[in-house]
Amino acid sequence: MTPIASADESAVAKAHRELEAAGVRTVIGTVVNASGITLAKSVPLARLKIFHESGMGAAPVWHVFTIDGGIAFTDSITTVGDMRLKIDIAGLRVLPGGRAWAPARLFEQDGAASPACARGCLADVEGSLVEAGYQALVGHELEFFLVAPDGAALETAPWVPYGATGLLDRSEFLDDLLSALNQAGLPLEQLHAEYGRNQFEFSLPPAPPVQSADTVVLARIIVGIVARAHGMMASFSPSPFPGSVGNGAHQHFSLRRNGVPLFSGGSGPHGISAEGGAAIGGIIAGLPDVQGFLTGSVLSGSRLAPGTWSGAYLCWGLENREASVRFLNEGQGNPHGANVEVKIVDPSANVYLASAAILALALDGIRGKSGLPAEIPGDPGRLSENERHQANVRLLSNSPAAIIDTLDNSSLARRLLGDAVVDATVAVRRYEQRIAAELTPDELAERFRLAWSI
Ligand code: GLU
Ligand code: MG
Repeated sequence: MTPIASADESAVAKAHRELEAAGVRTVIGTVVNASGITLAKSVPLARLKIFHESGMGAAPVWHVFTIDGGIAFTDSITTVGDMRLKIDIAGLRVLPGGRAWAPARLFEQDGAASPACARGCLADVEGSLVEAGYQALVGHELEFFLVAPDGAALETAPWVPYGATGLLDRSEFLDDLLSALNQAGLPLEQLHAEYGRNQFEFSLPPAPPVQSADTVVLARIIVGIVARAHGMMASFSPSPFPGSVGNGAHQHFSLRRNGVPLFSGGSGPHGISAEGGAAIGGIIAGLPDVQGFLTGSVLSGSRLAPGTWSGAYLCWGLENREASVRFLNEGQGNPHGANVEVKIVDPSANVYLASAAILALALDGIRGKSGLPAEIPGDPGRLSENERHQANVRLLSNSPAAIIDTLDNSSLARRLLGDAVVDATVAVRRYEQRIAAELTPDELAERFRLAWSI
């Protein structure tokens, strides 16, 4: 990514000039809240500097707006108070239609970071990694279903999973998507028709954690703009059509210490170093605790089924698509180098909190010298119950209530990420569970098919 400018005083003026020259009239600043929904304020270009320095007002309930437009109040998040939404100038990108976008963070009136701000939380985790001498890169995959503007399924026949057919059927949309992403400085790595009917996927290049999460928000905005221009919407629901495959939001990451990779060149399996193994061990050990950040929405559980490549089994393995943690080896076929893919994440998660949880577990694993659990080389679904027990592999929970109760009661999650993000997440997800109690699974999926769309 080529940033327009770095974040200092003169950089604001420079960015202003460049945006003006690019025909920008409006600047949109976004944050993603505990529900995984994207909230925004916009200003005319003339107010760019104010948006960066003083920010725009945002009520504390921004943290806990829910997927149905409600508010999940907590003891500390009430109608009283105000925060400031400040854009990060370094992340500014030009969008089609005279608009520009930048990621934003939420601050208290006195300038302190708002403790429930997800981008701030990830920035803190990234800071802890750097302080401890580690450099992380994160790469995101985006899966989505193209649907009608009201969320209904589109008619397309026939659909070939991973087929060339889908690429041709939707070639005009895909070509415009590619151009719009390129124009915004976001080069995608690959694009394909996915397994589900009218489901597509593209992946973004690895980048430092906050910057990489920012690009997911930008990419989802661009998908939304281009889909609308083609008379469609994109569903980022984890389970848009229950009973079929869902949307994942897999995150890949790699770690280096002083420039030396932790996932290759070591003496463990597949060249994994002792520290790399400890990072993976920390993730496997802590995954159930933080699942509420990765697969916590009321629709997340219906995606997490064995046989759907959503990584429903708690284990790791080389190129194992049924493992929640898939290891990708170094080699000629892997130009980015060895990395770890956390497959269970879905797009209803707050992308910043999901990265924060994964990386914080990795760092905690390294600090605690976690052991690397035994690798599971095959599909755990092909093992008998007894064999799975012997191999210490189990299915992750797919119960929204259990996942969120575990998060609420997790001293690990609270220690690593703080009470504020845990409490906000628990509040919005329990609110979703109350709505769901009144609906059948199909009604629930239909009602919230566009809840995480931008
Ligand atoms: N759609 C699957 C999921 O829900 C992932 C398919 C794949 O491996 O790309 O995670
Ligand atoms: Mg995929």
